[in-house]
Amino acid sequence: MKAEVDKDACISCGVCMGIASDVFVMDDDGKSEALDTVTDENKDSVQEAIDSCPTNAIAWEE
Ligand code: SF4
Repeated sequence: MKAEVDKDACISCGVCMGIASDVFVMDDDGKSEALDTVTDENKDSVQEAIDSCPTNAIAWEE
């Protein structure tokens, strides 16, 4: 499982990084980047970040 951030939609609010800091980090442009670190333990927090993103910029990768 991996999450994906649409960087064009990301407004750098930091919400996802606050909810799942082990998966979402800030890239050099200040946008969120999803690391390949989703596990059974943190996938619920990733889902919470997806649900909480104000611009719906995060989705599960197909
Ligand atoms: Fe970007 Fe959404 Fe994360 Fe905010 S919550 S930093 S808009 S991906």
